[in-house]
Amino acid sequence: QSEFKESGNKKKNIVILGSGWGAISFLKDLDTTQYNVTIVSPRNYFLFTPLLPSVPSGTINIKSICDSVRTIACQNTGEVKYLEAAATDIDPVKKTVSIQHKNQRFLIGDAFTADRVPIETTLDYDYLVYAVGATVNTFNIPGVYEHASFLKEANDATAVRQKIFNQIEASRLLPKDSDDRKRLLSFVVCGGGPTGVELAAEIKDYIYQDLSKFIPGIENEMSVTLIEAQHNVLSMFHPRLIEYTKDVFKQQGLNLKVDTMVKKIDDNNVYATYRHPDGKTEDVVIPYGTLVWAGGNKQRDITTKLSSKIIEQSTARRGLLVDDYFKLDGDENIYAIGDCTFTTNPPTAQVAHQQGSFLANHFNKQAKIDDLKYLISNSTDPNEIAKFNKRLERTLKIDKPFEYVHQGALAYIGSERAVADLTWGDWSTVALGGTMTFFFWRTAYVTMLLGIRNKIFVVSDWLKVGIFGRDCSSNE
Ligand code: FAD
Ligand code: NAD
Repeated sequence: QSEFKESGNKKKNIVILGSGWGAISFLKDLDTTQYNVTIVSPRNYFLFTPLLPSVPSGTINIKSICDSVRTIACQNTGEVKYLEAAATDIDPVKKTVSIQHKNQRFLIGDAFTADRVPIETTLDYDYLVYAVGATVNTFNIPGVYEHASFLKEANDATAVRQKIFNQIEASRLLPKDSDDRKRLLSFVVCGGGPTGVELAAEIKDYIYQDLSKFIPGIENEMSVTLIEAQHNVLSMFHPRLIEYTKDVFKQQGLNLKVDTMVKKIDDNNVYATYRHPDGKTEDVVIPYGTLVWAGGNKQRDITTKLSSKIIEQSTARRGLLVDDYFKLDGDENIYAIGDCTFTTNPPTAQVAHQQGSFLANHFNKQAKIDDLKYLISNSTDPNEIAKFNKRLERTLKIDKPFEYVHQGALAYIGSERAVADLTWGDWSTVALGGTMTFFFWRTAYVTMLLGIRNKIFVVSDWLKVGIFGRDCSSNE
């Protein structure tokens, strides 16, 4: 990376933390010839999360929704350095980030290679773009970490698939109608937000449409249960779509348990409290073979650590506090976007994507402003100075604060049906549900997929499933 720009001005160092929606959108729109850019993330690929719930059922291959950071970085005009590491500490005063690469252990023969000492280093930044996302919120409910799977990362989705098959195969050894066999064939999802709804719907489809062909009768033995603490699933959707989703679940035979708050989990059962319409409560026990926790987001430890170092962030319980340009309150050099922030916008890919793109354009303008100021201070020609001043004035004028444009929300609810809350401008909201919406859902996601390679892979996964059905092996 060269130290100077064409103008002769020195390039500033940008360190980007993360390789998710916010970070990649920022990177794609940043003029990387204007800065020295280093991207740091423990995950060396971008993950298209909207299609992650389709992975455990085998509708989508995990590779189809991953795109390597290095491939994306190569598409930039300027050089971008990628380091596979996690940030472990940030010093806002010294403007440094400590990062750590965890040396993985590998299975060789029957044994894992020995634990190796992680490699650590420190990076200096002029600007830090903080986009580390959020982690799963377990609300410290006993047993969640020990017994439940999640659906946040690529390996979560493949682990859920393996778990389902492990339980199905184990159940084959047990007598029909035995409690243990029933339990092993019970798939339970906790949390009726879009993640839980889409996953439960995909698994139910899989059982009815494909598993039943390979294991006749399994559709009568296997159950899918969705547990939600509130009275409704998909609470952010239009009430009509919530009712529609409930109806579709009923037709599909998906057990929906609303008003049911999970309290504890052990290796075989979920313990919950059901709230009757009259307000009385009842303890319920729900046996499971495979359990997925989809209870929502909380901040990562590194975010809590960062906010504890800045006085203005002392009230930042649910995410970092930022201004209209995503500059951290109380710091001049750190910018934060996506799920790690707390703003008026929801923690979605759509929001993180727009924020990343906005911030990149803001940085592109800042680079121009810096250059013009540099040229003004280094010029002796009054005509040239006047010209630069005019340009500077124009550039300063077009740097407007962020405004989120909501394009609607979509969710798959099973049996080739989806729900969509669509918005056109600020005057019209349309709530749609059904098979046409399902095709709209698919088209919208293909359009959103970042690269042409991913688009081709996803469409070919859908075609393969349409022609041959989903396969029934646990390998990926
Ligand atoms: P992320 O995309 O989570 O990226 C965070 C990045 O930071 C990752 O690369 C991670 O590896 C990296 N990181 C973590 N810790 C560190 C560290 N210490 N140092 C450096 N890097 C670190 N939203 C929608 O709008 N529509 C949908 O249909 C939709 N579907 C979803 C389905 C699922 C299953 C899930 C889980 C989420 C879905 N979302 C959807 C929400 C959406 O994925 C998130 O809002 C979005 O990913 C947030 O982007 P982000 O960049 O803030 O974080
Ligand atoms: P969420 O926060 O939207 O939903 C979590 C659900 O779990 C809530 O309904 C909550 O009431 C429930 N819950 C929490 N604790 C519980 C308990 N003890 N017992 C029973 N239920 C409990 O989380 P999510 O679905 O993972 O979504 C996270 C974010 O990602 C959201 O902003 C969402 O909009 C976005 N997302 C969007 C889509 C989409 O648009 N299709 C898909 C997935 C995620």
